[in-house]
Amino acid sequence: MSTRTIYSLVEPPRAMSHHPRTITGMSEDEVTLEMSLPLDSEGFLRRECPTCEHEFKWLPSSDDEEADIAVPDDGGYFCPYCGVQAPTDLWLTQAQADLAQNIIQRQVLGPMLKDFGKDIDRIGRNSGGLISVSTEFDEPNELDPLTEADDMRRVDFACHPGEPVKVLDDWDRAVRCLVCGEAAP
Ligand SMILES: [Zn+2]
Ligand SMILES: [Zn+2]
Repeated sequence: MSTRTIYSLVEPPRAMSHHPRTITGMSEDEVTLEMSLPLDSEGFLRRECPTCEHEFKWLPSSDDEEADIAVPDDGGYFCPYCGVQAPTDLWLTQAQADLAQNIIQRQVLGPMLKDFGKDIDRIGRNSGGLISVSTEFDEPNELDPLTEADDMRRVDFACHPGEPVKVLDDWDRAVRCLVCGEAAP
């Protein structure tokens, strides 16, 4: 019999991320880790386009506005810079991705490898010394929590007024709407 374990790290849905929090949940074959992401003073969340790799920010909706959220189609959001669409879970910045990997290593892989090491030790002892295996895992240090600066300039869209973005100050070309990909006038 083989069992398959799925490790996934999910962000709180955009509608919920107004209240950053960390939740760890485990079931038999799925481990779900959530990490908290900081917002700037206006409530914007830093993102990175998986295509052009430029950083921008979008505005997570607060809980009481949930009904008004513009839901992107199945293709996900459009990059404000390059206009390429990508699924909603692919917009982590490098720093957010590093933190996600750190959380998985510390909370999932570390404990799992420690258990594995104990099993190996037991097998070694039971073999009367015939089998000698050493296991080693250097658990990475816990990364500092992310911080969010009040940088970038805000752009609002007539097509989707509830979905403003913040883009790099020196970006002088068109800025596209997250939801429909239309360029701001
Ligand atoms: Zn892009
Ligand atoms: Zn739009």
